[in-house]
Order: sequence, then C-alpha cells, then structure tokens
Amino acid sequence: MENQELSKEPIYDVVLRDVNKVYPNGFHAVYDFNINIEKGEFIVLAGPSGCGKSTTLRMIAGLEEISSGDLIINGKRVNDVAPKDRDIAMVFQNYALYAHMTVYQNLAFSLTIRKTDPVIIHKQVMYAATVLGLIPYLNRKPKQLSGGQRQRVAVGRAIVRDPVVFLLDEPLSNLDAKLRGQMRKELTELHDRLQSTFVYVTHDQIEALTLASRIVVMKDGYVQQIATPKEMFEYPENIFVAGFIGTPPCNFYNGKIDEKATKFIHVSGAEIALTADQSKILKDYAGKEVIMASRPDYVFTDDATLKANAKQTFKLEVDYYEFLGSYKLVYGEFGGEKIIAKINGREEIKENVIDACFQAEKMLFYDKETEIRIR
Ligand code: ATP
Repeated sequence: MENQELSKEPIYDVVLRDVNKVYPNGFHAVYDFNINIEKGEFIVLAGPSGCGKSTTLRMIAGLEEISSGDLIINGKRVNDVAPKDRDIAMVFQNYALYAHMTVYQNLAFSLTIRKTDPVIIHKQVMYAATVLGLIPYLNRKPKQLSGGQRQRVAVGRAIVRDPVVFLLDEPLSNLDAKLRGQMRKELTELHDRLQSTFVYVTHDQIEALTLASRIVVMKDGYVQQIATPKEMFEYPENIFVAGFIGTPPCNFYNGKIDEKATKFIHVSGAEIALTADQSKILKDYAGKEVIMASRPDYVFTDDATLKANAKQTFKLEVDYYEFLGSYKLVYGEFGGEKIIAKINGREEIKENVIDACFQAEKMLFYDKETEIRIR
C-alpha cells in the first residue's frame, strides 16, 4: 500500500469509474461503466449495434462529453481535457486519410501540425512505416493503395503520436473477410510489439475472441460481462453473452431441476444427469425451472465421448448437416428444441436419429427469470 502511494507510476493506464452518457435529447446511452485497464491490455468493446460501445470509446477519446463519472488516463482525471491533450490516438473505421498527401505526409501530419521537431517527425514516421511494412509505399497517395495498406496507414498515424492508449473504432469493417483475417493477425503482432494499451470497438465476436486480452460485452448501454476470451466462452455470465459470443451460437434448453438436484429434466421429459459440482450449485433450484446451455462444441456423437457421458446422452434428430472440412455442423432437434452440434468432420451420420451427448462438466445453467448464470 505504502509503495503504491509512493510510486509515481499509475497502476492503470485507463480507468472508467461510474461513467454515464446521456445525450442532449435525453437518451441514456451508457450506464455506470466501470473498468480498470492495465498497461498493455487489449480491451475489446463488443456488442450489437446501438449497445453504446462507440459512445464509450468516443468518451475516452474526448469526442463525446462524459455526463457523469470519472475518466482517468495515465493517472490523471481527463474528463475536461481536450482530445489532443489526452495521450490517446484514435483509428477510425473510414481511415480518414488525406487523399492529396503521400503516405509519408499522412503519417507525419499530426506531428507537423503540432510543430514537432522535423528530425523527430522523420524518426517517428520511419518507425511506424517499418513496424507496419509501409516503407515501399511512402511516396504513394492513398488511392494507389489497397484497402489493407490504407488501414495500415491509418494505424501508422496513431503510432507516430506514441500515445498511452490506442483507440480503434471498427477499423477492419471496410475490409473483405480474407483481408480482415490477415489484419487481425497483424494487429495482434503490432500490439505485442508496441506493448501499448489498446481499446478496440467491434460488433464482430470473432474479432473480440481473437484480439482481446479482455472483452467487454455491452447491451442497451449496460456492461454485461468483462472477461478474458476463454472465460467468456466457457462461462458466459448471462444468456445474452452466451448467445453473443461463439459461432455457431450456444444451444439453450428449457426444463427444471429434479427434487433431489441430481438431474435436469428437459421439457420433453428427457433426463440429463448433473455432475456432483452441478448438483451442489443447483441445490437451491431443486424443483425449479432453469435454462440449460451447451455450446455446439460440447455436443458429441463419437463412441468414446458417448461412453464417458452415458448419463448425458440423448436422441438427436438430424435435420441436415454441413461438412466443413475438419468439422461438421449438425443441425437438428433435442426433444423438440433446436440443437447445433459441432462434431469431428470424419464422423459419419448415417441415420436420421443419432445418439449424442452433452459433455457433462461443460453444461451451464441459468436462472429462468434473471437469465444470470447459476454458480
Ligand atoms: P454501432 O455498432 O451501430 O455503431 P454502438 O454500440 O457503437 O453501435 P453507439 O453509437 O454508441 O452504439 O450508440 C448507442 C446509442 O446511442 C444508440 O441507440 C444511438 O442511437 C444513440 N446515440 C448515438 N449518438 C447519439 C446522439 N448524438 N444523440 C442521441 N442518441 C445518440
């Protein structure tokens, strides 16, 4: 404690404390946003259109006023500090490059208008261009570049500023699927190399899972969960997050827990045994309705897994399946409710009704009313 007080180094690069945004028309877009972002984290704000993620990013950038709460960057409260003095640099979705300037001039621009020493400008531009592989294009104009190269210039313009925090608003959304995949890899490498803090907005849950050190999922202005990608995938806090993160989406089943809290009884009457841990967690739900969730990744049809999960086995009625190389997606029904299973591509599906099982310890249970995970 004492050491922390003595230390001049802030522990967190960015802190949002009870941050709210109410637009002038009265619309409450962000409610009580709280997060401590450590140096070097890659935070991804994710959620469907209109959930408040861009508003949050724009408040950090200083492009939107904060209605209440505190924003602390690098140990300093910056609610009332102008964007240019905030130690941040923002990369926009539409790149915002100057068409009449070369790549070099675009990269140098923000430092030029700040009247930075030309020697430093050149050093910073060459550094950004090297990191991003833009050296061969320095004399080109933006229209002579591919989409991916333009995106790299946009990122380079942030790098030259050497900010504490990089803010990125859907920077890959204008690129085609293949290029997006490549740029995801490049952004991860760039983040590793710069070791800076990134806050990144996307509605694409694959980007969230692949890029983030922690994901923040938002809905209707409220933070739903803040967690590492693995934690969020394995233990989604509520039904909304379970449905938002992961493709294909999570399977959900209506039913109840039996009086002894030893099994889940599906609405169809099918019985699925609980593990000892689940029994303990669901003790208070004995006799009550719950929602069971199981990811397609944890539904199996192979003999070995069926044997290991004999008490979680059920009849899967197959509607159709897609062969996708290393895996197959099986679409069907479990007791009248939809199911998707992601099974090994080598497995054959010979019948319309096949034996399948839920991997016991991966089953999750949610309160029927609050839709929050029971733990
Ligand atoms: P998208 O992915 O579509 O950009 P988002 O999650 O980034 O969505 P925001 O742009 O943060 O969403 O908007 C959050 C909510 O605030 C939306 O309902 C939007 O209509 C509303 N909103 C945004 N700007 C304003 C404004 N200037 N005045 C009033 N409401 C606004």
